[in-house]
Amino acid sequence: MYLEVKDIDFSFKDETILKEASFSMKKGEIVALLGPSGSGKSTFLRVLTGLAHISRGQLFIHDEEITKLPPEKRHIGMVFQDYALFPHMSVKQNIMFGIEHLKKDDRYLQLHKMLKLTNLTDKCHKYPHQLSGGEAQRVALARSLAASPDLLLLDEPFSNLDTELKAGIRLELKEILSSLDTTCLFVTHDIEDARAIADSVYTIENYKIKKIENANM
Ligand code: ADP
Ligand code: MG
Repeated sequence: MYLEVKDIDFSFKDETILKEASFSMKKGEIVALLGPSGSGKSTFLRVLTGLAHISRGQLFIHDEEITKLPPEKRHIGMVFQDYALFPHMSVKQNIMFGIEHLKKDDRYLQLHKMLKLTNLTDKCHKYPHQLSGGEAQRVALARSLAASPDLLLLDEPFSNLDTELKAGIRLELKEILSSLDTTCLFVTHDIEDARAIADSVYTIENYKIKKIENANM
């Protein structure tokens, strides 16, 4: 398996969120994590990124253990629910933020690839407040994908979008992820999102991450 989560425990203060939870993903797989508010979905993403610390268990990507690595060394991309764009930076500057370490030529090559992929080339000098919700989401996606992460995490990627736009945006997202062969775990509370995009669907139940075998997909 490409991503392996082995037997992890996570508590917040006295509240148990995950206990002896295991989970795995294949390379290139798109998985939805479905469940009601407060079930621990965002917390699980934070555990994977290293923003929250497990008290037991291990995490592996590509057979390399990442359990003790700080977030910046995990090569995991995260798109937060509110996108967390830098308001004082243009689209271009937002996308280039995570690839400062690349050589100048490679950095611009990657910027233009991401702008094209997310259809933002003509917005590259705009600032976040000048963008629609869908465009802001694509900037956040481009910023995460620019660094070629081993794993991409999306927290409720559709929750801030108009319902009429959702179907088109789901399809667009699926195409972008497939074209880069991205391994992606996304959180949603909407079974329709999961059906439209995911190869398999999981939920958090009794502190464990369980596959929903019959999601009618
Ligand atoms: P979901 O994303 O499924 O809605 P969350 O992961 O946000 O759920 O929250 C699950 C539980 O984790 C909440 O009950 C919350 O109290 C707790 N929790 C975990 N980490 C924190 C934190 N850093 N601050 C506040 N609450 C937290
Ligand atoms: Mg959440």
